[in-house]
Amino acid sequence: MYKIQNTGWIEVITGPMYCGKSEELIRRVRRAKIAKQKIQVFKPIIDDRYHKTNVVSHNGDQVEAIPIDHPDEILKRLNPKTDVIAIDEIQFFDQQIIGVCEELADRGLRVIVAGLDRDFRGKPFGPMPQLMALAEYVDKLHAICVKCGNPASRTQRLIDGKPAQYDDPVILVGAQEVYEARCRKCHEVPG
Ligand code: ADP
Ligand code: ZN
Repeated sequence: MYKIQNTGWIEVITGPMYCGKSEELIRRVRRAKIAKQKIQVFKPIIDDRYHKTNVVSHNGDQVEAIPIDHPDEILKRLNPKTDVIAIDEIQFFDQQIIGVCEELADRGLRVIVAGLDRDFRGKPFGPMPQLMALAEYVDKLHAICVKCGNPASRTQRLIDGKPAQYDDPVILVGAQEVYEARCRKCHEVPG
């Protein structure tokens, strides 16, 4: 991103699991640091995939983040000197996150957000459709389909090795769950 003066904006990085959203968010955070900008990174507490307080990519890259459980906390914890806000796994926040991102961009901050555009059923995820519409910049990344090698736009949920049913609960106690990247043709949602 080039230096744009006296205005804020929203950048969305989106796509399925493994498409490199966290990797790209971390890359942008590092570059902002090189430019000596003051940056704060947030993530929802719900995401304890690898680390409670870091944003961690599947490729092992990581950057320190502030874990929060409500969008309001971003405004409360905002340092007045901050130039750039980055938020990972933004799909897990409720609709209030949209107003928070708009408020920050209106105040002149660069707001970088990363999140899944679809849930395992292939449906738009939480606040993502709104954020993608309101953002100045949207990058839709692709993973590699593990079945056929095509660009993958969807996240396949497998429960005990079988494709999850459309109405399977989001949290299943005791089941072996995995997620993988798949293309439109290979994505399966029975039921
Ligand atoms: P996201 O945040 O979108 O889930 P990450 O940044 O955590 O993505 O991980 C991206 C990394 O995942 C890639 O650089 C690659 O090393 C690894 N990876 C594992 N499986 C796949 C796949 N099917 N397609 C692409 N990358 C994959
Ligand atoms: Zn495929």
